[in-house]
Amino acid sequence: PPVAGVVAAHVRDVPDFPQPGVVFKDLTPLFVAPEAWDRVLTALADGRHGEVDLVAGVEARGFVVGAALARVLGTGFVPVRKAGKLPGDVVAATYGLEYGEATIEVQTGAVPDGSRVLLVDDVLATGGTAVAAWDLLERVGARVVGFDVVVELGLLGGRDRLGVRPVRSLLTVG
Ligand code: IMP
Repeated sequence: PPVAGVVAAHVRDVPDFPQPGVVFKDLTPLFVAPEAWDRVLTALADGRHGEVDLVAGVEARGFVVGAALARVLGTGFVPVRKAGKLPGDVVAATYGLEYGEATIEVQTGAVPDGSRVLLVDDVLATGGTAVAAWDLLERVGARVVGFDVVVELGLLGGRDRLGVRPVRSLLTVG
């Protein structure tokens, strides 16, 4: 089956999580299914945006996607973390979420100047996380080549929020 079908078969809808009215897309069934997960990683690796020096991912599920994809591509991995978790000098950005607000950080010096960085996450919702992470990575010297996710929540407008930044998703749902 096409990879979108593989993803669809391994996403669980959880109503009213983390708060009433939100239907959370849970990708845990995908992470625990080795063959399906391998299909997804292969699809992400095959469709990447040209040459990539480093993969970056946002805590926490972006680490699962990003670290695994970095291993497939043979690159290193740059963690984008929630505030207060990274030691040493960091740059920080605060942004609005589908539910609430968040601050994320990247270490200055983590990315060699001009590195081509592929940003990944599990889910694209409003795009706030991706835009904030993209801009932080560029502030520490990265050239971000694109943003890839496993699942895109199409109705939340994340793709529009990312503007001209290239976005790719394996499955778009309403
Ligand atoms: P955004 O900033 O609104 O695009 O939200 C994306 C961030 O929130 C990503 O880091 C996702 O991991 C997380 N997120 C938002 N909605 C969901 C969901 O339904 N399932 C899993 N993660 C989600």
